[in-house]
Amino acid sequence: MAEREHEHVRVAVIGSGFGGLGAAVRLRRAGITDFVVLERREAVGGTWHDNSYPGCACDVPSHLYSFSFAPNPQWPRSFSGQPHIRAYLERVTDTFGLRQHIRFNCEVQQLTWDTDELHWVIETGQGTLTADLVVSATGPLSDPKIPDIPGLDGFKGKVFHSAQWDHDYDLRGKRIAMIGTGASAIQIVPAIQPTVGRLTLFQRTPAWVMPRVDRRITGVERWLHTMLPATRYLRRQLLWGIRELQVSAFTKRPAELGLVQRLAAAHMKRVIKDPQTRRQLTPDYRIGCKRILLSNDFYPALTKENVDLVASGLREVRGSTLVAADGTETEADAIIFGTGFHVTDMPIAKKVKGANGTTLAEEWKEGMEALRGASAAGFPNFLTIIGPNTGLGNSSMILMIEAQLNYMVDFVRQLDTLGGKVALDARPAAVRAWNQHLQERMKRTVWNTGGCDSWYLDANGRNTTVWPGTTSEFRKVTKEVRLEEYEVLRAAARQGAQQREAAA
Ligand code: NAP
Repeated sequence: MAEREHEHVRVAVIGSGFGGLGAAVRLRRAGITDFVVLERREAVGGTWHDNSYPGCACDVPSHLYSFSFAPNPQWPRSFSGQPHIRAYLERVTDTFGLRQHIRFNCEVQQLTWDTDELHWVIETGQGTLTADLVVSATGPLSDPKIPDIPGLDGFKGKVFHSAQWDHDYDLRGKRIAMIGTGASAIQIVPAIQPTVGRLTLFQRTPAWVMPRVDRRITGVERWLHTMLPATRYLRRQLLWGIRELQVSAFTKRPAELGLVQRLAAAHMKRVIKDPQTRRQLTPDYRIGCKRILLSNDFYPALTKENVDLVASGLREVRGSTLVAADGTETEADAIIFGTGFHVTDMPIAKKVKGANGTTLAEEWKEGMEALRGASAAGFPNFLTIIGPNTGLGNSSMILMIEAQLNYMVDFVRQLDTLGGKVALDARPAAVRAWNQHLQERMKRTVWNTGGCDSWYLDANGRNTTVWPGTTSEFRKVTKEVRLEEYEVLRAAARQGAQQREAAA
């Protein structure tokens, strides 16, 4: 550890999920080997490492939910489970020789911009290092959120979050309370229903659920994808193209989603025969406003004898009794929170202190904003992968990550071209212009007009998470760094002073 104090690297990547591993591959391909990947866990995978709950799977088809530069002809199912995705990321790590760059069990505690030296000082659990450029790939689904429920501390049973599943806890015969009806909870419910004694689902807001067209990918298909890579490519392009065509309904014409909403309602009606339960399960907002969930076994699980639906949020815990907002009382041995993540209040932001001495969290107290999803003003040479407004409502995040990696590679290229000790700081006017335009477009989207509250919106009701366009458009606008949107900072080494150059 001691020899790592004061170590300097060209690039420090934070996180080894899809974003961090992708960054590592692209840096190596750009000829940069002087970089480290700082990973707080003992293994790669990010959210796909942490989320190991029963039933955990991806609701984007695997042939699209994978790197374009690391295709996998052997995906076993159209929608892969977490173990397969995690194994894929381990393979990517080995295939691209990334392991040598990764520091495991190395949590970043503080990042401070040194205005004289023009580099970041990074304090980690394993000592301090400095880096010219930081690529923060901590992702929006990294830190679990458990709501502040009065009396929860006094609950004597087991409590855990979906992303911190306690595999040593035996669910057999237990009275389990599942809190939430998001993408995680609806996968957990059918997976644990056969095992538990009683399962009570606390639903604060119902979700629209569509069928999941999941099937085994046949041996013939896999053989074809291996022998004829073009078939694999075509499959990916088709999956991508369909989703690109859907985008305008989400971003411009939410009324067009009416047909999809009717399909979702019919999907429910086929399984849920009781009209009262159907009413409870039917959302009062436009489909797509919250993330559309895909499941064939969620509704069937709700019809099982050992499952109760409480159509109300969890308000309070009194001893072993859970009290819902509508007053319903439920006895439980364990509470499982499927209550999501700190998305709009990105946890790493509290640890990043920029050129003005303020943290990114302080700068973002009115809401996150960055230039092209990557650069915040006053935080030179700091890029976020899956930064503000780079999320998607209907397609694969890997497409967005790869676009941001293009931006990262061009950022490094620009630094090289400028030469010497140099940093790029996003101009406040450029950040403002980018976000004003983005928020203007956001006004028409289903996320803002659909009549729901979702984790896409921050505490002020502003959508700071989703990209209001197609993935190809995002790819185009992140293809290269426009130097005029940045201030070029140079360190005058002798005087220790910093000079600001007007960019060409
Ligand atoms: P989430 O979508 O944020 O859902 C959280 C749930 O907790 C919501 O239903 C919320 O209700 C509920 N909740 C919060 N406080 C509550 C309370 N006091 N009582 C009852 N319910 C309460 O979280 P998530 O399901 O973990 O999913 C997060 C994201 O992870 C997803 O949207 C998706 O992007 C990703 N994910 C993806 C997959 C996949 O297949 N690719 C699978 C799992 C997760 P309200 O709706 O009323 O707020």
